[in-house]
Amino acid sequence: MTNFICPVCGKELLRYDKSLKCSSGHCFDISRKGTVNLLVSNKSRHGDDKRMVNARKHFLGKGYYEPLHKAVRELVRKYAADGCTILDCGCGECSYTADIAAELSRAGISAEIIGIDVSKEAISSGASRHAGIRLAAASVFDIPLPDESCGIVTALFSPFSGKEYLRVMKPDGIYITAFPLEDHLFELKQAVYEKPYRNTVAPLEIPGFALDSNSECRFKAELTSTEDITALFDMTPYCYKTSAADRAKLDRLTSLTVSAEFGLAAYRKATLS
Ligand SMILES: [Zn+2]
Repeated sequence: MTNFICPVCGKELLRYDKSLKCSSGHCFDISRKGTVNLLVSNKSRHGDDKRMVNARKHFLGKGYYEPLHKAVRELVRKYAADGCTILDCGCGECSYTADIAAELSRAGISAEIIGIDVSKEAISSGASRHAGIRLAAASVFDIPLPDESCGIVTALFSPFSGKEYLRVMKPDGIYITAFPLEDHLFELKQAVYEKPYRNTVAPLEIPGFALDSNSECRFKAELTSTEDITALFDMTPYCYKTSAADRAKLDRLTSLTVSAEFGLAAYRKATLS
């Protein structure tokens, strides 16, 4: 088992009864749900709030993004091997993490699965839904795991933290990411904004990483209720930067077909030459 490391001093954290302790005496309580809070500063973004977590749970729970879930879990399975440690960075309420866990168990691959997210709300929600995934509240910019401990690092719609991802990846480790393409959810933006803009897609080339495979996953999601439409909106970053008047436009919609368009990519560590 890969133990977390102390966010204060970096030493290994070992379990003593209901807490994790390092040899320097730093101590972190394990919650009733089995999660641990390893956030040491309040400087980091506090992460997704309850509204966003609930929106995501509602929307993803309805299966609208099943083609994406399938693409993600199959990609992870392709690279996973017995005994491998998988870290899901920015795991949220574990929708993808749990799906990956189920896929690997179906495939007979035994892997250790760890999730981190800065949102304590999300972690707590993930823990009540899924057993068997070790969860910590922690930042992707300060991952509480030792160097070269992970066979696979996934970051699905989470902030990019290349230096930390490379640090925790094993020398032959894999980094898997998913990201929205240019026209992702364009119809939803059209419904709200006068001048909707297309997403900017970052180049596939990332310094320090060598692209191993990439694919696109495009499908239409037919939303059939106002509740589902607003849930989708509330799980996007737009929900924080939209006026109440613009958001209220969604309350008048009872159905909407949106383009869901994602890029997926898997990388190895680039070899220095
Ligand atoms: Zn310590």
